[in-house]
Amino acid sequence: MGRLENKVALITGAGSGLGRAIALEFSRQGARVFAGDRDEVSVIETTDAAIQEGGTMVPLCCDVSDKEDVASLLSTIEKEAGKLDALVNNAGITQREDFRHVTDDQWQEILDVNLTAAMRLSRDALGLLRVAEGSSIINISSIMERVHVRQLSAYSTTKAALAGLSRAMAVEYSAFDVRVNYICPGYAETAMTQRILRNPAVRQGLLDRTPMKRFVSAQDVAKAALFLASDDASFITGEGLTVDGGMSVSL
Ligand code: NAP
Repeated sequence: MGRLENKVALITGAGSGLGRAIALEFSRQGARVFAGDRDEVSVIETTDAAIQEGGTMVPLCCDVSDKEDVASLLSTIEKEAGKLDALVNNAGITQREDFRHVTDDQWQEILDVNLTAAMRLSRDALGLLRVAEGSSIINISSIMERVHVRQLSAYSTTKAALAGLSRAMAVEYSAFDVRVNYICPGYAETAMTQRILRNPAVRQGLLDRTPMKRFVSAQDVAKAALFLASDDASFITGEGLTVDGGMSVSL
């Protein structure tokens, strides 16, 4: 018996990296997973992998920063499942730019994808979340919500705002029996970090600063999301779970 038996989950950005690992883990644990991503090919690959493992997954092509795509995604879930037990707002992008050179368009783009999309989905999915019992929202923030490196000011701003939004939503959504939590991963080796982690000196520097001496695995984050979505976390809301091997508490 899986830990998410009879539950329905929506994972955004499920075509690769952390989102794919979360979607597959939720499916292994018995959830019926709606896997959303703007890249149709990659999200179908995630779905094929889940089905090969005997899971139930539906691929949905959706750009989370597009209002109409989001509306159509939620309407599909309403028609096909009629409820939502877990919403994982994982889709995200990054940019590297000195703060003084960040353009208005860059700023708007990252806000739209990393923050506004999570706000819109969390707001508009409430009806479906309320139908399910003990449902929850899990927002994928980052340790960058509170520790900072050069050239990631816009990214850090979205992740800090997402943490704040999660706590604020937790207060309001408790009235509807919907929990809201967030996860702060450290550095994981995914497409998002590929370029920076290709540099051996940067890699070693990051590992040296991590007490547990390895990068975060996608499975580490998937297990944290599983815990927060499961009944084991039924009295946890407004909380941030850091998954970084001690990096953000180490000098
Ligand atoms: P990733 O491998 O690049 O995966 C992100 C996925 O989201 C990709 O499939 C991407 O599609 C999709 N996506 C991007 N914009 C989208 C949009 N507008 N609509 C729908 N899908 C969209 O990156 P990741 O490392 O797994 O990141 C997942 C989340 O974890 C992000 O929110 C990220 O900020 C967060 N995070 C990552 C790390 C890390 O070290 N990797 C650390 C902390 C937090 P495309 O391939 O088409 O772009």
